[in-house]
Amino acid sequence: MKLSDQLKKVRETIAEAAIRAKRNPSEITLVAVTKNATAEQIFSIVGMGQLDLGENRVQQFAPRAVALAERLGDKASTVRWHMIGHLQRNKVKSVLPLCHCIHSVDSLRLAEELQAASQQLGRPSKVFLQVNTSNEANKFGIAVGAAVHLAEQIDTMDGLQLMGLMTMARQSDDPNVARFSFARLRELFEELRSRKIGGEQLKHLSMGMSSDYEVAIEEGATMVRLGTALFGPGKN
Ligand SMILES: *Cc1c(COP(=O)(O)O)cnc(C)c1O
Repeated sequence: MKLSDQLKKVRETIAEAAIRAKRNPSEITLVAVTKNATAEQIFSIVGMGQLDLGENRVQQFAPRAVALAERLGDKASTVRWHMIGHLQRNKVKSVLPLCHCIHSVDSLRLAEELQAASQQLGRPSKVFLQVNTSNEANKFGIAVGAAVHLAEQIDTMDGLQLMGLMTMARQSDDPNVARFSFARLRELFEELRSRKIGGEQLKHLSMGMSSDYEVAIEEGATMVRLGTALFGPGKN
């Protein structure tokens, strides 16, 4: 299928899932995950008005963001790059100036590094706390039981704006497995709000990938991160 058709189909599926959940489709932002996309596909999808892009591989992110910006010229500033993958502290300085927000903050040390880098840059950084709701040993993300405390610490850092929470569900054929993760993230989010942690901008739940985004929307996702559903499975 053509990229434009895939994009249209995905946007329709998002809208339908929102309506089923009695939500307004405009509350949900699609982040197009480019890890398996070609430079050409990325350029095309931006041309179709898909301006939120996500990349999880730090090595790939900077060269891609720079190449795309060169091609887009004065339109480059309309693109918002979301860093969605694990970020090592020694990569913070190179990544931060290029991205709109970071979905993968999962330790105090990383938060502190971001705080210092944001102060140097002279602008606050938008961050999400990544939570390991599926409790898998091989997943990044802070443990559910430690998340509120870390959110509190981030909230005290004036260089960081806590935008919301992010999670990845366990891969499973049973949609209830993903639903459990997403519901857990939403409960945590509600706990933060009720304890007045995070300000007005704490309003996002970044959850849902190609295999589970409809369930995520039913559970309250405001950002879904889709790669395969848009660009296909890719070569790697
Ligand atoms: C790859 C990736 C996605 C997108 O996954 P798809 O299954 O291809 O939609 C979303 N979030 C993160 C963190 C990823 O690494």
